[in-house]
Amino acid sequence: MSKVKYRYNPETLSYDKIEKDYKYYTSQALIYFLFSGILLVISYFSYPYLFESPKEKRQAREINELLSQYEVMNKNLDQLDKVLNDIQQRDENIYRVIFAADSIPNSIRRAGFGGVNRYKYLESMDNAALVIKTAKRLDVAMKQLYVQSTSFDEIISLAKRKDEMLRCTPSIMPISNKDLKRTASGWGYRIHPIYKTRRFHWGMDFTASTGTDIYATGDGVIKKVTTQLSGYGKRVEIDHGFGYTTLYAHMSKFNVKVGQKVRRGDVIGFVGNTGSSTGPHVHYEVHVKGKKVNPQHYYFNDLSAEEYDEMIQIASNSNQTFD
Ligand SMILES: [Zn+2]
Repeated sequence: MSKVKYRYNPETLSYDKIEKDYKYYTSQALIYFLFSGILLVISYFSYPYLFESPKEKRQAREINELLSQYEVMNKNLDQLDKVLNDIQQRDENIYRVIFAADSIPNSIRRAGFGGVNRYKYLESMDNAALVIKTAKRLDVAMKQLYVQSTSFDEIISLAKRKDEMLRCTPSIMPISNKDLKRTASGWGYRIHPIYKTRRFHWGMDFTASTGTDIYATGDGVIKKVTTQLSGYGKRVEIDHGFGYTTLYAHMSKFNVKVGQKVRRGDVIGFVGNTGSSTGPHVHYEVHVKGKKVNPQHYYFNDLSAEEYDEMIQIASNSNQTFD
């Protein structure tokens, strides 16, 4: 029921009924449409802020699922890191040691990717930190696996040559040394027999009468046969391959020529007193990859555990060398 409106008329001192004409109805309709229009526009633009569309709800759910998958992936990467680390430790401390392969430093094993930012394209993402962290970890794990598999390739090829390697590794004393009486002086600081000062002795001296056989301590090829008036005197060097070289000094006579192949136990020369020497003996050195090492670690083929202990005891006496 529409309300009837009146207007007070001061002239007649009475209320006149207001008649509604078409202008009134038109303006009312216009106002109505205008307000409806404004409301429509406001609700259209504010809707996404107040309510999520089904598509947005689905996308939000998907993002959450992806984030939790990234978390799971990072946990799996933790596990992978542990396993890889274990394999690397075994590789470094067992396999590479057994086969005398060079150690692979951690700086190479665990290196990342320096230089250009490989992850720049990910930086604009909402969860960039998590995604970049995961991508980096995956890259590092892939690189570690690559280094590890290359290491195993090397170990496998060394293992296939194991028999040859064992034959070539120096592993006996250079002279027959029954009861070890001929062990004279070992590796380390000793009194030099000529200069009478403490000097580092880079090998082991074995005394024996002039003319005693000197043996090749592993298979190899004769690398040097030289004669010096001082120093090593008459000296033979054998290249055993696999990074090993041995040196035999102060010989009286040679029994080999450069380039000749020898087997372990072959007589390469005879004990003498040539060069800087104070009595008939053989000065024996073992070099691994060009570095002189203590020869006492390379007699595992001809000594029992007790004999080995005894030999170390004798060799460690801080007495004078024969040089
Ligand atoms: Zn010596």
